[in-house]
Amino acid sequence: MTRARYLLACAGWMLFLPGVIRNCEWFGRIQKSLPTRSRELLLTIDDGPDPRQTPQVLDALAQAQVRAVFFVIGKNVEAHPALCRRMVEDGHSVQNHTYSHSLATFWLAGPGRAADEIQRCSAAIQDATGRRPVRFRAPVGMANPFVHLAAEERGLGVMGWSATGHDGIAQDPIRVIQRIRQQARPGGIVLLHESHLRGMHGGERACTLSELVNTLKADGYTFTDRLDAGTH
Ligand SMILES: [Zn+2]
Repeated sequence: MTRARYLLACAGWMLFLPGVIRNCEWFGRIQKSLPTRSRELLLTIDDGPDPRQTPQVLDALAQAQVRAVFFVIGKNVEAHPALCRRMVEDGHSVQNHTYSHSLATFWLAGPGRAADEIQRCSAAIQDATGRRPVRFRAPVGMANPFVHLAAEERGLGVMGWSATGHDGIAQDPIRVIQRIRQQARPGGIVLLHESHLRGMHGGERACTLSELVNTLKADGYTFTDRLDAGTH
């Protein structure tokens, strides 16, 4: 390998290595908590809307009187705009989680694809709800410098998380709740999922959500719907 090729290969690794590290901030800030010392949490729910899960999840949130942030997938919004509208009507926040949610390749996205995925998702949300998102979350938190730039150019702050029960793949609600409880801190951002494709099925997600909220409330936590809670 020539020296030039070696340097090029190193530069490539430097560029895309952070893409496979979740919530990596090498190339841009990622909001992983709220600036507060009070026992407030932000509940975020990814990968919807999903007609098999979203209605029960929204019912569970209404019953618990908790507002959440939904990071939605643009193509799902186009397929189920009424569910996305209900999220907003119920008082929740709807934010950008790419148009197609390509787990395998999004972290490799070049500037054109990164911009397209983010733009199309924001357009789908605006068409369905009349509101423009202000936050972006990459699929499984894997991004790269082009993704950060594309989000920032569209006025989107990148949001990660600080507590996850791995419910996107896990089947056991008790373990999911235990993991999140152990990671809960003042100002924490909790990650949950609502897709039927991976992890829990049917009404399990809604039941897990209700149980998690009750557990965290018993631990003295409240839930905020302000993306910048603690700064005012
Ligand atoms: Zn996702």
